[in-house]
This record gives sequence, structure tokens and C-alpha cells, in this order.
Amino acid sequence: MSEHMPRAWHGIDIGGSKIELVTYAEQGAQLQERHRERIATPGHDFMEFMGAIGALVVRADAALGARAAVGVGLPGIIDSASGRQVSSNVPALNGRLVAQAMQEALQRPVAIGNDCQCFALSEAQGGAADGLPTMFGAILGTGAGGGYCVEGRLQRGFNGIAGEWGHWSIPAPLLARHGLPVYDCPCGKQGCLERYVSGPGMSRLHAHFGGDGAEPLAIAARAHGAAASEAAVHTEAVHLDLLGHALAGLVLAFDPHAIVLGGGLSNLPHLYRDLPGAVRRHLFRGVQVPPILPPRFGDAGGARGAALLARQQTMTSIF
Ligand SMILES: [Zn+2]
Repeated sequence: MSEHMPRAWHGIDIGGSKIELVTYAEQGAQLQERHRERIATPGHDFMEFMGAIGALVVRADAALGARAAVGVGLPGIIDSASGRQVSSNVPALNGRLVAQAMQEALQRPVAIGNDCQCFALSEAQGGAADGLPTMFGAILGTGAGGGYCVEGRLQRGFNGIAGEWGHWSIPAPLLARHGLPVYDCPCGKQGCLERYVSGPGMSRLHAHFGGDGAEPLAIAARAHGAAASEAAVHTEAVHLDLLGHALAGLVLAFDPHAIVLGGGLSNLPHLYRDLPGAVRRHLFRGVQVPPILPPRFGDAGGARGAALLARQQTMTSIF
């Protein structure tokens, strides 16, 4: 890239059904979008997947008029000992050294984070928590995960999983108080928060309390008004209490200056009204609940966060 070109990064958000690449260039302290392309995810063949990523980046370089470093956000986690991708919803990537393969294929720095970390970073820089000393981005969607940022930088931690709050177990007395069973979790543990407070978790609660397996937005709609359903009202109250317990844990562990919600459940308006009180009930006196905020970028933060991750990595490392 010539000295006269602004610095730029390609952010790639990889999902189970689509891959989105967005190129951002620095304009002062802001990021300006330069190029965007979306393709279907070749989910089952690794060589086909890598070929599609390579072609996507070549086209993005051409649109930018320069080569740019790449940031990638993808679901699942990377085994910290082997560097191999595990539990991704893109089967072609499981067991693969994705970062290494991409770096070799693309011949440039590649920064990789999970989708929740990319969401948090995007909300920490230019998003709902812009300018705050610390923030926690908590995703409540198909799963429950998150990321922690300090001074606008994502904190990766020892294993690279700082913020994976969805796999904390709910204490047995709290489950007993609500008459809830201990659900198994695909992570191999039991009673993980994700099984109760994510989107599917809320539907599971509703079914347990005598309702159907409706989606969270439908449950929330049925919990209000003159014709409110008892199962929906009870589900919303229990979900709020379990989520309050979860976010109180985040306050005790990270003490963030704000918690930004993401994922499908961030569209539930009652959370912004009722969650602060629910969190407070799980904390001791004298602890203030930080602002709980809706996201600025919503689901669109994935590629932006991935580009910011590439910026964070390339500005601090020599490749
Ligand atoms: Zn789990």
C-alpha cells in the first residue's frame, strides 16, 4: 500500500449460511466503508471454502486498489493448545488450522476472533460503548457469548476466550428455586447459562412452564397486555432472573462501564427496562449496575468487528 493511501482492512464475517466481506479505510478516527460483498458459505469442503475466501479477498483488493490485512470473525472457538477450530457451525472448518491456512493462502496478516468478540469490539469502537474505558458485549442469540474490551481493545486472555460467559453453570439452588431441571450442554458440561438464557433457552423455558416452543419475541409479546398468557409471563420473569444472575457475575468479574446486548434477544425492549433491577437483586449493596445498552450495529457488527480486530493486531504486531 502506498504512503498516500489511508490504512485499510478487510473484515470477513463467516456464518453458517453466508460470508460477508466489508473493507474499511481509516478516515481520521472513523472507519469508512469502501467495499462490500456477500457470498454463500461453502460449508462442507475446506478447499472450496478456502478458494472462495481467496477470490473474495482478491476482488476486495482490486476494489480498494491495494492489499489490506484481513480480520476474520467466525462462530465456535479455537483450541488454544492445537490452534484448530472446534465446534463451528461451518463443518468444513472443524479440526482445521484456519488462521494458518488463511495466512498462507492470502500471503498477509490474518487476525481471527469469534463472532461474539467481533461484536464486542465493534460496539467498543464507534458503537454503543464508544469512548468508555471498559465494556462488555454480551450476545444473546442462538447461543450466549461475549467479549470484553478495555480502552477500545479486545482482551483475548490466556486461552483467547475471555468473555465466554454462556458456559458458566447456574447454581443448583437457583435452578431449584425456579423448579428447573439441569440441562446438558453440547460443551460437555451441565446447567450452562446458555441452555436457559439464549434464544432457544428462552423457548425451552416456555415449553417447560407449559407453553409451546415459540420464539422469544413471540413469548415476550404474549407476556404483556390484557390477554397475557400465564406461561409467557412466568417464562419472562424466570428468564429475567437467570439473566440478572448472569450479568451480575459479569459485573463482579469484569466491572465494565457498560454492557451492550447483541443477538436476537437484544430486540426485546423489556430487557433495557427490567434487567438493571434483575441484576441488582444478585449483587450486594453498594454495587452500581452499569448501563445496559442496545447495540448500535446489531447483527451488522460482525465484519466491522473483524476489520477492527485486524487493525488491532496489525498495529501491535510485526508480521
Ligand atoms: Zn456449556
